[in-house]
Amino acid sequence: MHKIGFGYDIHRLETGRRLVLGGIRISYAAGLTGHSDGDALVHAVIDALLGAVGEGDIGTHFPDTDPRFEGARSVDLLETIMRLVRSRGAAVGNIDAVIVAEEPKMAPHIPAMKAALAPLLGVPESAVGIKAKTNEGLGPVGEKRAIACYAIALISLPD
Ligand code: MG
Repeated sequence: MHKIGFGYDIHRLETGRRLVLGGIRISYAAGLTGHSDGDALVHAVIDALLGAVGEGDIGTHFPDTDPRFEGARSVDLLETIMRLVRSRGAAVGNIDAVIVAEEPKMAPHIPAMKAALAPLLGVPESAVGIKAKTNEGLGPVGEKRAIACYAIALISLPD
């Protein structure tokens, strides 16, 4: 049996904070705020996985009121969620994601993001789709005040 899940996340950009996205650090003048490292792409992937296994959302598992998750690396949260996915007998088929960011240019960083996420998800890099686009200058994302990410995940479960 196959199931799909969908995730979305948006984080504010703040000058002087380090930018972590897709499990990698990107050199830029601003970074994403958040209780964790603010990795909106990994958060969207986590919500897609949780949606596929019907296990709530990232806030249920890692409440932002819990000091244990302050400054958490989002890839560590993803590892925890993958343990849950595997405990259900599920395996990831593929994920596909879209980053919406006006700056910086994401294309040069996508191969490193795929290389970071594929082993965590237990899939080849060819099963990790990541695309990036701008918001055409529109709204908070277009005004470089935030980065938004969308992701879907396909999982296979025993029948
Ligand atoms: Mg988030």
